[in-house]
Amino acid sequence: MTALVDIDLLSDLQRYGAADVSACFSCGNCTATCPLVSNDSTFPRRMIRYAQVGLRDQLLSSKELWTCYACGECSETCPTQAEPSEFMAAARRYAIANYDRTGLAATMYTRPIVGTLIAIVLAAFFALFMYAGHGPQGTESLDIFGFIPEEAIHDLGIGVMVIVFAAGLLGVATMARAVSRGGGVTLRSVVGSRSALRRSAGALWTALAVETLGQRRYRDDCDADADAQPWYLRRWFLHAATMWGFLGLLAATILDYGLSLAGIKASGTPVPIWYPVRLLGTVAGIMLVYGATMLIIQRYRGRERSVRHSTTADWTFLALIWITGVTGFSLELALYLPSAPAWGYWVFLFHVAIAMELVILAPFMKLAHAVYRPVALFFLALASTPGDGIKEGT
Ligand code: SF4
Ligand code: SF4
Repeated sequence: MTALVDIDLLSDLQRYGAADVSACFSCGNCTATCPLVSNDSTFPRRMIRYAQVGLRDQLLSSKELWTCYACGECSETCPTQAEPSEFMAAARRYAIANYDRTGLAATMYTRPIVGTLIAIVLAAFFALFMYAGHGPQGTESLDIFGFIPEEAIHDLGIGVMVIVFAAGLLGVATMARAVSRGGGVTLRSVVGSRSALRRSAGALWTALAVETLGQRRYRDDCDADADAQPWYLRRWFLHAATMWGFLGLLAATILDYGLSLAGIKASGTPVPIWYPVRLLGTVAGIMLVYGATMLIIQRYRGRERSVRHSTTADWTFLALIWITGVTGFSLELALYLPSAPAWGYWVFLFHVAIAMELVILAPFMKLAHAVYRPVALFFLALASTPGDGIKEGT
């Protein structure tokens, strides 16, 4: 098979935050240090080698790119300041931008001022779209859907979801195609026989339940601060709290909408704290705000190896998550105050606009790793039980 060489690959990766890795001489220190390395003696330096020799397609088809949890341990031992950990993070940004066909992800990552302006304009557009059909601000109780009609939010939500699904599916299809080719995986080897289906089901379970939701490798192998930090400050826990909080809020929103459709409870109606959907939303909101707040503080301090380098995209992502969580809580507080505070209506408008923005930008920013990582983990799990031509991997 002929390998195409991209002579701009190294400089392109530097635009995404990689250090100058041209001095890397494959000493293998990073491989010896990485807690994820088991039977693959070339991870992560193989990725750096791809960049050095311009093997763009090989880099983009590496499922191992997504197994790295950015713990930063490899960078500590690198004698050439090639910052392999930061290289891996930059390569993932580069991959997200290349899986995206619109060019928006590339802009968000490589042109931070333009990316920030896009984020501000989008939020303003969403807010103005909803405000255009606004009604009166009730003063006895917070009538949020009297202020912003539910239909306006619904229509906007449908538009946002269509864009997200189209962009997300295209990105995942592009990624899965590249990774499956690199790993010798075909449709037949995934669903072509009973044994293939059994293996695929096992790989799916490992990728989604064990690794993504349970974060097994993150907990066991990649928690460099495990001895120095209490459990509630460890990276894996903060990451898990943010992720579970986000998923919980998404589930609460969908359930609330479902109850409204079924005529059981109109959206926005005050209910007691123990009402299941509200309880789910409250617990998930606490987890999201706690996780995001601590991640922001840790990144701001920059003490841990894993957060010494931050890009504008890292901050934008955390800021959107944090604002969504905090405005959601403020809104809940406003809903239960005895008389309706005027600020509650503006918080509601701001909250929905930012939440919509977070969702629509998901395929084009760091949040995309929430989809790409499980896909890569699926292929990795498949590779650990080879058969039907599937190659063994990390
Ligand atoms: S430790 Fe540094 S120089 Fe050695 S292989 Fe890894 S990136 Fe290259
Ligand atoms: S950052 Fe951590 S997980 Fe990623 S390659 Fe380096 S040592 Fe391995």
